[in-house]
Amino acid sequence: MKGPLLKVENLVKHYPLGKGMFKKNAKVVRAVQDVSFTVEAGETLCIVGESGCGKSTVARLLMRLTEPTEGRVLLEGTDIASLNTHALRDGRRRMQLVFQDPSSSLNPRLTAGQIITEPVENFERMTRAKREALASDLLRKVGLAQEIMHRLPSELSGGQRQRLGIARALSLNPAIIIADEAVSALDVSVQAQILNLLMDLQEETGIAFVFISHDLGVVEHIGHRVAVMYLGRIVELAKSDVLFAKPLHPYTEALIAAAPLPDPREVRREVPVEGEVPSPVNPPAGCAFHPRCPLAEARCRVEVPALTTLPDGRAVACHVRASSGEAMQPLIDASQSGGNRQADLQPSR
Ligand code: ADP
Ligand code: MG
Repeated sequence: MKGPLLKVENLVKHYPLGKGMFKKNAKVVRAVQDVSFTVEAGETLCIVGESGCGKSTVARLLMRLTEPTEGRVLLEGTDIASLNTHALRDGRRRMQLVFQDPSSSLNPRLTAGQIITEPVENFERMTRAKREALASDLLRKVGLAQEIMHRLPSELSGGQRQRLGIARALSLNPAIIIADEAVSALDVSVQAQILNLLMDLQEETGIAFVFISHDLGVVEHIGHRVAVMYLGRIVELAKSDVLFAKPLHPYTEALIAAAPLPDPREVRREVPVEGEVPSPVNPPAGCAFHPRCPLAEARCRVEVPALTTLPDGRAVACHVRASSGEAMQPLIDASQSGGNRQADLQPSR
């Protein structure tokens, strides 16, 4: 295979707003606007951003659970829109989805063993012995005890159910798993176990992940690269260590500063960002972040900044930070502390 495992080109998704849906100038929700990225085999790309910024819509577009308004998704070089129903089924084998809430995505009437072998049975008939061997193998892979095989989802803990959801996604041996808020409903200690499981699986099998989360702490733990979304657009995309050490986009800086600190003794850095996320029905002109941005200049109010790749390999969509020598100067002086925090960018659930 040449090129990246997954290539996303200029994805746009507009949802018509209920009223006036059939009128020519009906209003639309601009859920995803010109999103492009690639994922290499064995890589974890994280997508992070506040609730409503378009993360789940990207996941649905990747899985072709919804049609894009514009743009395309190439999996192993093939445009998924060009696949007929049969080939799409095969394509779906290569790319699997893990949801936030395993209890609503797992059939409550099936046993754990049936749940994890069902996807394979949709493709091929298996003998009972083969089915049991597969179930047993998948349970072991995700760290579940064999006796879980005969339990119903309602008899399992949240963490066990999410392991089951992962086992189900693994059953078809996919090249990539899209995990949308896959640990967000779990307790912090269970979150860490599931993240470790995913990283172990990646090391063993070379599987790739698109890991979607509103939680920067989780993302920092698991991501090789991180894409930060704001109002339907990627505003920054960089290697994880680079992004967390020195965020470039003022929004990324604010998000990192607002995230809960892993060490409570650390002093929070202050970020001068105020206001709320605007509506994706009427996004601000120019850079959508400009009304909240301490660096905004005249052109930021009229011109949408392109996601520009800088010499160090990271990409940022910011007129000020991408062009000037200021690019390497952080907005926040890390040595500063104290004062009133004005930012209200708490990651929401
Ligand atoms: P996230 O997963 O980052 O929270 P979503 O992708 O779920 O964001 O939503 C992005 C925007 O699109 C939000 O404003 C949301 O209300 C809107 N949206 C999502 N799905 C639909 C839909 N089916 N119809 C209309 N609007 C939608
Ligand atoms: Mg979502």
